[in-house]
Amino acid sequence: MKTSIGLVRSGRGRILVLLVTALLGCGMAVVPATPAAAVSDCSLDPYGCQTPKCGSDQDAGCNESLYLHNGTVQHNPRIYLIFWGSGWNSGPDSGYPAYLANEVFGKLRGTAFNNILTQYSDASGPVNNDAVLGGYDVDTSTAAPGVFLESYVNPEIDREVAKKSWPATDDTQFIVFPQPGTDQSQLTVCGRHYMRSLGASGTAAWVASSKSDCDGSESGLSGIALHEYAEAATDPQGLDASWLPTNVHGWATDDPHNDPVEVADKCEGWSYESGSTYTVTQPLLWSPAVNACTIMHGKDYPTSDPGWSYHTVYGAILAGDRFGPWRADQRGALDRLRPGVDLRRYQLRRKPLR
Ligand SMILES: [Zn+2]
Repeated sequence: MKTSIGLVRSGRGRILVLLVTALLGCGMAVVPATPAAAVSDCSLDPYGCQTPKCGSDQDAGCNESLYLHNGTVQHNPRIYLIFWGSGWNSGPDSGYPAYLANEVFGKLRGTAFNNILTQYSDASGPVNNDAVLGGYDVDTSTAAPGVFLESYVNPEIDREVAKKSWPATDDTQFIVFPQPGTDQSQLTVCGRHYMRSLGASGTAAWVASSKSDCDGSESGLSGIALHEYAEAATDPQGLDASWLPTNVHGWATDDPHNDPVEVADKCEGWSYESGSTYTVTQPLLWSPAVNACTIMHGKDYPTSDPGWSYHTVYGAILAGDRFGPWRADQRGALDRLRPGVDLRRYQLRRKPLR
């Protein structure tokens, strides 16, 4: 459960903080063994490898390695997105839930970006590059609260699990997005992930959509959500000692111990933007292979995604508009996907975060 992490300046100039989560589930997907990555992870993309900024709330942990704190990882993450409130069905955000679900989380698997997470294991094995979108829902059956509190998240997940009959295991992630325009001023960070309540399987996370110091743009929301996803996959126990005094959790640095620096936290301040219908922010993640923050590990490889046999995260995201026009500002991302394509073709402009 980490809390926030990087300040990011969005294209709209807003500042935000991110977090991530993840999950898994059973899987259907059969993914080939992950190709060994290599030293070329950084040489392939000079903008995609960065050293931690060591600023902000990550100061204490930025020079420390991540290690497993007697916890576990999610081996086959399965993600469910819950967009809470009818506000997601109207206005400029109305197409966003489907886009974030299908074009981003639905196409993570097999990507070199998601492959970064395969470097994190527990006694039973690594996080596999086979993340699956379990489903998503715009929930209008329970009125969205006028003042959104973190304590509303787990009950909302419980209601959705019951309503949709969504299965949950330890590999399952639920990410809740309160509708834009509601009062989210009581939240202390822009996103957070943690375990579901006692007796419930999987992880919970939320992403602020209307908090003044967070990036509530579509781009910002994706960045926070991917941050929480990656961290929940590698540190599903999370750890917020103020909530749950325990030393058992997943991959993080040791300090500050009550707010561990996790795989995305360590790279706070670095991200990429891509996408077409909506801009998507990808947080750089810590990669032990190159001892740096990176956006990829190895290359993409075929997956069982229907319709898309090869993709990168960029490609996957862009694939949603594969046959549509490219945004003028996305130079470098102009090549259409094709098997075996070099990731450099999808390099997009670097997004400095602060
Ligand atoms: Zn985090």
